[in-house]
Amino acid sequence: MSFDKYYPFTAMELPYELNALDPNISEYTMYFHYDKHYMGYIDKLNKLLENRPLMQNIPLETLTKMEDEAIRGNAGGVYNHELYFRSLTPNYKKPAGQLAGQIEKDFGSLEALEEKLADAGMGITGSGWVWLAEDTNGNLEILTTKNQETIDFDKYNPLMNIDVWEHAYYLDRQNRRDKYLNAVLQKANWLNARNNMTE
Ligand code: MN
Repeated sequence: MSFDKYYPFTAMELPYELNALDPNISEYTMYFHYDKHYMGYIDKLNKLLENRPLMQNIPLETLTKMEDEAIRGNAGGVYNHELYFRSLTPNYKKPAGQLAGQIEKDFGSLEALEEKLADAGMGITGSGWVWLAEDTNGNLEILTTKNQETIDFDKYNPLMNIDVWEHAYYLDRQNRRDKYLNAVLQKANWLNARNNMTE
């Protein structure tokens, strides 16, 4: 999934109302997550690149791999949240077509995949992300990254991700990350994941 974004970065529009995922994710949480956390990454990334003209022509995906920790972290914050907000929908529909077939082939069933995604989320110590991605052969894999790191785009094409930072759930669920992961999976945007597949 490539967003084809360059400096100066502008915020994506949230594809649903702030309260559209309530009660799975509350309006309060979405407000802070989108308006404060995500917008904060956009602003910080723009400031970091303001006086670095040579870096202003580098696409967002590449900026998430820079050696400079501040640029890498804020670019990752932008990329990761843009995929995350698109990975959710108020109009849940089960995976269909080619994605459904690939899920069955690689995980056995949607339920088995959901369990593995939730387990991966529970397995992250501290802040991080869970990813559903396809490898270069089109096989699905679950990956995790720490902080605002992105997955290896040369090896994997991201289909969806889940934010496992505390700010994604603490206002609603406090320490119950398991309940958050379950609630997120009930709002998973499988149509968007399907559209992100290479074929
Ligand atoms: Mn977040």
